[in-house]
Parts: sequence; C-alpha cells; structure tokens
Amino acid sequence: MITQTAATWQTPAQIETLPLNEERSWKQELSGAITRADELLSLLDLADSPLARSVTAMPDFPLRVPLPYVQRMEKGNPDDPLLRQVLPVSQELVVAPGFNSDPLEEAQYNPVPGIVHKYSGRVLLITSPACAVHCRYCFRRHFPYEDNTLGKSQWQQALDYIAGNSSIREVILSGGDPLAANDNHLHWLVDQLAAIKHVQRLRVHTRFPVVIPSRIDADCLAWLTATRLTTVVVLHINHANEIDDDVAAMIQRLRGSGITVLNQAVLLKDVNDEVQTLTALSERLFENGVLPYYLHLLDPVSGASHFDIANPQAMALYRDLQAQLPGYLVPRLVRDTPGAAAKTLAF
Ligand code: SF4
Repeated sequence: MITQTAATWQTPAQIETLPLNEERSWKQELSGAITRADELLSLLDLADSPLARSVTAMPDFPLRVPLPYVQRMEKGNPDDPLLRQVLPVSQELVVAPGFNSDPLEEAQYNPVPGIVHKYSGRVLLITSPACAVHCRYCFRRHFPYEDNTLGKSQWQQALDYIAGNSSIREVILSGGDPLAANDNHLHWLVDQLAAIKHVQRLRVHTRFPVVIPSRIDADCLAWLTATRLTTVVVLHINHANEIDDDVAAMIQRLRGSGITVLNQAVLLKDVNDEVQTLTALSERLFENGVLPYYLHLLDPVSGASHFDIANPQAMALYRDLQAQLPGYLVPRLVRDTPGAAAKTLAF
C-alpha cells in the first residue's frame, strides 16, 4: 500500500493542472464536486489505465467527490487510498454472503421519521440525507432517506420524541452528513434541542469538512458555539493523506472555538490495512489535536465486500498497532452489532 503523506503529494507541479479551489465557498465546492468517473480519472492521469475499465456506473449511489479531496490524491496511482474510497468499481456488483442493504438493522430502531434510537441515553437525528462525498463502503448507502427526509411537521415530531424521553442526554446529528444542511437550519435545530432541558450534549458526526474544509466557516462556528450544549465534533478520516494543510486549519478552527474534536475511521482493505498506515493516521491526528476514537470494522453492506478484512487479520493488525503506539493513540476497535446495547469492542 502507498503510504505517502499529503504534504509530499501537494507539490505545485502536481496540482497545477487541477482547478483552483482556494477562493471557492463550501457551497461552490459542493456544487462543483466531480460526478463523472472519466473526469476524475482524467484529472489523475489514469484515463488510460486498467482501472478505467473496472469503473461501473452505480446509479443508486453514484460517484461524488469534491475537488479539495481529489487534490490530495496521487496522480498516476491507481492504488491511491483516497481514490479507492470513492471510485465505483465492478467489485461492487459482487453478491457476497452476509452482506445486505441494512447491515445494522436500523429500520427496527426508527421510532419516528428522522430518529434512530438504538442505544440508551442518546439518539441519532438524521439531519440531512445528503453527503459531500459518496464513500463506497458506507453502511447507509441503501438507507431509505426518502422516508427520513423531514418536512416541517416531522421535525416537530422528531423533537417531540426527544423531549418526551428524559433518558436522552445526547443528540447525535447524523445523516447522510449533517453539515450538508444549511447553517440557518442547523442553528434553528440546535436551539430547539437546547430548549429540551434533559439534553446535555450535541455530537456532530461529519465527513463534510474533511472533503471540503471551508465548510467550517464563521456561520458554522456560530451555531456550534452559541449553545449551552457541550459540543463534540467527530470527524471521519481513514488515512493520514486526507489531512492536508487546509484540513489541519479546519481542525484548528474547531478546536480554537473550544469544541472537542475526535475521529472515527473504518478499517478498509487496501486503504488503511497496514500497521504503518494506521500508525501514521493516529500520529497525524494527534499532531492536529484530534484523538483517535473508534476504528470500525466494516459493516457488511452490499456492494462493499471488497473492503472487508477477515477477523483474524484485523485482530493481528490491531495487536501490531497496540505495540507501536501509546494507548491514548490507539482507537477502540469496534463493531456495530444489531441488537447490542452499545458498540461491541472487537478486541
Ligand atoms: S460521508 Fe458518511 S454517510 Fe456520507 S457516504 Fe461517506 S460514510 Fe456514508
């Protein structure tokens, strides 16, 4: 596996042919995201590579990747770990035993539209069905977002559900990606949550600012900080190459505003399944003040079996990681198990 750092990739010569993104707002970056595989491969000098022949259109979960993320990929490298996370390839058509469209059986924890209530004390609020990037291994790639995209009365129903359950101390804004919603709406939503006395913590699970760092701007920081709720942002970064200078600056904006920043990653074959790669990720996160929180084993969602790593191999890798790093830099290796009272420690 290639383990070059983002810093060594981003030489001017390498990025000069990519469109500039420095002056673009996050909304412009979002609307300008690449949605055609031929365009992506051409930008990366891979249009004529064998990889181009394995690309497969997946109309239900099409390619989507913003340019700031593409710019961290290595040109000419068909095995680039960032490219592998976003390019739809023919392996997604494989029907693998045990892989299905709802691996976490979330449908049975969906008491009202927009709410996933699996664990005691906290609920997920599906804040936006959209994402800035389509990660090919996403366990919600088949989620029925059309049934969970809330109209005005359904927002009230979701808020009423939270208000009516005094055991709920924490609300997790999820999706899709919650930061795909606009800031006015998010500000209103957080105000509504803060008005519910038993809610104490707000958690935001997001990959959006990892792929478009300008998403964390003054408007976003305004609603993140103007609340009595204790706020935690959990980023989703799988590889050290995803952290370039713009991502580092984005993290500093969050941390400088007093927000706790954690990271969760997914263990993915041929992306981050080597001990050096995971070590580099933890160290790069910590350099930027982010604690590695979770390392998830892949959820068996159909279309993603080519990212799967056998359990014994995952355990061996984790043991190696423990031998390389101090305990506080070793994320917890976890598995989401349908019906379990919490995430299950896999080790
Ligand atoms: S950003 Fe998160 S929810 Fe969206 S596709 Fe990627 S993993 Fe799935």
